[in-house]
Amino acid sequence: MRRLSHLLTSALVLAVATAGILAAQQTKIYWGDEVPSGWAGKWSPDLLTVPERTDFTRTMSTLQLHEWIAALKLKTENLHVIQMFTSPLRKVAPAMVLSNPRVTSPQQARSSGKPVVFLMGNIHPPEAEAAEALLMVARDLAAGKHKAILDNLTVMIAPVFNVDGTDTFVTQNGGLGSETPHILGVRENSEGLDLNREGVKLVSVEANGLYRTLNQWDPILFLDGHLMSRVSHGYANTYGTTTVPAAAPGPRTYMEETLFPAVRDAVRSNFGLEVFTHSLATPNTWPPRAWSHDRAAWTVEAKFVVNDFGLRNRFAIITETPGQPTFERRIYAQYAYFIALLQYTSAHAAEMQAVVKKADDDTVAAVLAGAEAGTLTNFLDGEYQSAGKIELLAYRTNEAQYKPGTSLMSTKPGTASGPPEVVPDVDDLTKPVGTRSATVPRYYLLPPDLADIADKLRAHNIRVTTLDKAVRMEGEQFTIDRMYPTRRSGYDMTTLDGTFSPLITKEFPAGSFQVDMAQPMANAAFYYLEPQARDGFVGWGVMDDVLKALGAGERSAVYPVFKGRRIAP
Ligand SMILES: [Zn+2]
Repeated sequence: MRRLSHLLTSALVLAVATAGILAAQQTKIYWGDEVPSGWAGKWSPDLLTVPERTDFTRTMSTLQLHEWIAALKLKTENLHVIQMFTSPLRKVAPAMVLSNPRVTSPQQARSSGKPVVFLMGNIHPPEAEAAEALLMVARDLAAGKHKAILDNLTVMIAPVFNVDGTDTFVTQNGGLGSETPHILGVRENSEGLDLNREGVKLVSVEANGLYRTLNQWDPILFLDGHLMSRVSHGYANTYGTTTVPAAAPGPRTYMEETLFPAVRDAVRSNFGLEVFTHSLATPNTWPPRAWSHDRAAWTVEAKFVVNDFGLRNRFAIITETPGQPTFERRIYAQYAYFIALLQYTSAHAAEMQAVVKKADDDTVAAVLAGAEAGTLTNFLDGEYQSAGKIELLAYRTNEAQYKPGTSLMSTKPGTASGPPEVVPDVDDLTKPVGTRSATVPRYYLLPPDLADIADKLRAHNIRVTTLDKAVRMEGEQFTIDRMYPTRRSGYDMTTLDGTFSPLITKEFPAGSFQVDMAQPMANAAFYYLEPQARDGFVGWGVMDDVLKALGAGERSAVYPVFKGRRIAP
């Protein structure tokens, strides 16, 4: 019986594989710089994007973005625009809310019953293809061929997040791999901050404005679009999701097993592009042996906004196009992925809402079941292990060259062009696995003088209450033996050595702050507040001043955030 079912399964697999090959044979696949002719459709001059008006040699400024949105507004009833924040250089970051019928507030979006999806570009302005593709997506949803997506979704689109970096145009030097667009924004905001390292510390105006918007509108899916530099893989676009091991597993599993494969197939059959996981091949010699998230700088840390968003029990996606194709090709690759993703999400809206709700419910239930007894744990850190062997599309060589007498970069003919080779037996190093863990408390308690930390938790959408009378709490206290700086990925991080006490009882006066962990944001609260999380509040220096004032770094000191199990009798 067992053998028979195995044979039947094999026959089914063979049939599916054959169908896949036939489908692939029917679909023309575009490699290198190729795009289908007329792929963006025909539009009136006021709805053309800056790249379309400049033969794909320029990208938009924020002023051009505002003008373009104003033009689109005149063509549709289904567009509302919100302002996420005003930047340090006094520029407004808009987000379009596309819905049918139109909604103009988070309350209306919620009562419509349709999930909200949030797509964002230009967190890194030199990586402008997602931003430009998002305008084309907005155009299709509001006045074009993809209006039907709004039957089931509210789509929020913030094409330009780093508005100040976007408007700081510089002549590009080819460092990202391609010669177009000829001038680009800069990566950092006007204060020199990389906004995609703000996921935990939230110090910039921009990140706080974004998080305020996310807290209010509660999207079930958040996408952030990027560009890699010159690469040797054969994919037009790559995608990844949250890999912070402390995040609820449900949404991540759904994406890896269900959503990503389906969207990948749709991008292939509907747009003629091959896309795959956001990774890079290693080593740098032929043939590659591994396909590694780490190599692509996609660590398991929450500093990336997409990784951090996964701590909310929601779907989070990063897309990264390779750097060497033309600007038009890169925009097409982002556009194709966005449309295929929105079509999938629209068709599976109820199913995806159920996954998110279950992750919320499970998070609360686990705290109620195990936190008081001290049996619930979660991960402080992790690493990537093998998810199995894969076939990889890759090029043996990919060489850059300057156009003679210029600083314009292009690809040396005969390298990284045309169909790539299929490399078998490549180790897929993309499976995040927790390595260190700690108990999850029933409550975190913060003394009254940590009001700034309480505010930062609230900025992350974590529910924090203020005690109106003193509470005696039984729980664990962490003693810091050593506090020292660690340099990691270009950042000065803080590390604490120390130990947790056995259960003790401690009194917290009125005015102290309490985080009841029976809330959907428990995984995030745990990761930010645990003294030894890989990149929580301690890691990012958010607690440095508080800890130094307590003498940490010079002598043994008590970590001021207490892990309460139960109210003492
Ligand atoms: Zn980037």
